[in-house]
Amino acid sequence: MNILTYKNKRLLKFNVLEQISFVEHAFSTRDFGNLGLHVGDIKENVIENRKLFADSLDIDYKKLVSAKQVHGNNVVRVNMEDIGKGSTDYEESIENCDALITDVPNLPLFAFYADCVPIFIVDPDKKAVGLVHSGWKGTLNNIVGNVIDAFIKEFASHPSDLIAVIGPHICMECYEVSNDIIEKFRDDGYLKVTDSVNQLDLGKIINNQLSDKGLKRIEQENCCTSCDLDMFYSHRKEFGKTGRMAGIIMIKGD
Ligand SMILES: [Zn+2]
Repeated sequence: MNILTYKNKRLLKFNVLEQISFVEHAFSTRDFGNLGLHVGDIKENVIENRKLFADSLDIDYKKLVSAKQVHGNNVVRVNMEDIGKGSTDYEESIENCDALITDVPNLPLFAFYADCVPIFIVDPDKKAVGLVHSGWKGTLNNIVGNVIDAFIKEFASHPSDLIAVIGPHICMECYEVSNDIIEKFRDDGYLKVTDSVNQLDLGKIINNQLSDKGLKRIEQENCCTSCDLDMFYSHRKEFGKTGRMAGIIMIKGD
């Protein structure tokens, strides 16, 4: 992972994606402010923050496509007619969906996070990209598995060609969950259960889900959104009153 700056604001890029010449991507830090339109901030301020983050990649913020993110496991393939949906108006976001995929150039996918796991997916052979939001519910329901199935169906991808990045998210030590939740994951092995605490490692489970689908090239970032409040927003650490970082991934045009 590399930390870059734009107008003194830090943004993150991932090594394996930087090596793919047709892909533009980044993950924001809290330096860019809140990028989510659904958390009660003044809309104009959020749009201004989005503009600055998109500017850092030389992308027009009005083209950003985002979903409403409902902690489900639906995947939507977006096309040119979807360009700009959700960029300045939450209600226009793609409905009922936590993963967007596309093979259309200059169509920037955009998604929001504060502890949940961002997953960036690229098919370097078929020139297609995807962006996923996976919290515990999405992880339980294997949204990344659905995304890989969608790449196979929509783009004729071979899973062994695909590259995935598991971006910054809450670490296991910070992610205590209730008995109800831990019971659902009991068989997965990526959890710690003691008399006093249950902890869940979402990143490792997702890494496993991607491997199970046949992916060979997975980069996992181990920085934690809850441990590092200087860099990130954390829904958990800040008791639900916080902003959202965002991921962007786009196929560059000719
Ligand atoms: Zn942590």
